[in-house]
Amino acid sequence: MTIVRTIVTFAVTVSVLTFIAFFGRTPAFRNTPIGFCHRLLVHRIPSALRTLDVLLTNGRITSGGARLGHYLMNEKHPVVMVFFLGLITASAGLFVPAVWSLLPLRHKLLVIVLLPQPYYFTYLCAKRNPETLITELNHAAQMRHYPYDRILFYPGNACRTCKFNKPARSKHCSICKSCVARADHHCVWVNNCVGRGNHKWFLALLLSTAILLAYGAYLAYFALGPRVEKQYARYEHWYKFRPSPGSNPSSWGTHGEKKLHYFLTYVSIYIDEGGVSAAGVGLLALLTWPLPLGLLGYQLYLVYAGMTTNESSKWADWVDEIAEGSVFLGKRKPETMRDYRPKGVGPGDTAHSSSPSNPIPTPPETPPEDEEPPTTWPAESRHILVRTTNGQAPTSLPPRIKAVADKDSFERTWDLADVENVYDLGFWDNLLEILAH
Ligand SMILES: [Zn+2]
Ligand SMILES: [Zn+2]
Repeated sequence: MTIVRTIVTFAVTVSVLTFIAFFGRTPAFRNTPIGFCHRLLVHRIPSALRTLDVLLTNGRITSGGARLGHYLMNEKHPVVMVFFLGLITASAGLFVPAVWSLLPLRHKLLVIVLLPQPYYFTYLCAKRNPETLITELNHAAQMRHYPYDRILFYPGNACRTCKFNKPARSKHCSICKSCVARADHHCVWVNNCVGRGNHKWFLALLLSTAILLAYGAYLAYFALGPRVEKQYARYEHWYKFRPSPGSNPSSWGTHGEKKLHYFLTYVSIYIDEGGVSAAGVGLLALLTWPLPLGLLGYQLYLVYAGMTTNESSKWADWVDEIAEGSVFLGKRKPETMRDYRPKGVGPGDTAHSSSPSNPIPTPPETPPEDEEPPTTWPAESRHILVRTTNGQAPTSLPPRIKAVADKDSFERTWDLADVENVYDLGFWDNLLEILAH
């Protein structure tokens, strides 16, 4: 029983900590115990330890550990990736030789096909991807992928480190020390930012890991099942007819307790028969399997909603402010929208539709071409959101909003559903856009 407890404790601890580390920051868990645990783990416990260290050793331990802490939190390092791949390698190294002789050919072939996949997709996620990182060389092309929605992203915002205008949907990553195109999040498991260019490999990594773990758990059951069933039947028979009627299972109390006893007995016979290498690893796979699956589910939800992890927290900020009643929804001036401009004003149209003697000027409100070049994206934002500090409709607008919004069109909004997400083309098109880039 001790070994069962050790494996279960290990798997549950790794799963819970990983879950909190991954999801704790997401807006959905902001005001829940998971968000609280995340703050506790990331902020409160470290700061309490620091205070204690200052009291006890005048801060000697933390100042020594600070450099390591700073390195682990703020620099690119493969520690977590090595742990992840090491765990898979060690588990497979124990598991495969232990069950190999019990497997039919079709399962042997499947093991050979499935096992390398998480390694391959981790490599593809982790390697430097020219499409993910925004550089001086590809900046012009990156600016043409997505339009500014003027809700989450505005034109004319320069990155202080990279010294160029941030393309829409991008984010500067202080760990990768670069702006990242369609930034999703910095992932410590692959030691890289997930964004345009490698997002598809990240989804593939989650899927292949979930499949590998589920398959590993199934194989352990498949290989050990017949032996365990035989032992278990023997045990049940012994239990029914053993010579101490006082502790007969029927006198234990609830049906649930009996079921739990039989279940734990089954697991313990399973461990006895398979040992740590086959049964232990199988159990570990079964218990950790929901993690990549849950992450994949969350990623697919974001695909459905047409946002990245980075954008989901920006949208969550708007939701909080809408609930306070301080957000007003305005309409864009049609002449500032490329799709709505009269012929002859849009880029590329000038030569054909406007005569040189009577040219239609580009509206002065439109940002210069290098700040907001035309994009290949099929949709354009028609809305603009502003928050006011006094809860009243905006009376004066900042220049960058005044330039594109109809001042009289602002109305208070109570529902984010009223606001168009220009980056959401529908689930399949969102998914295709990720798979294509
Ligand atoms: Zn940057
Ligand atoms: Zn990064």
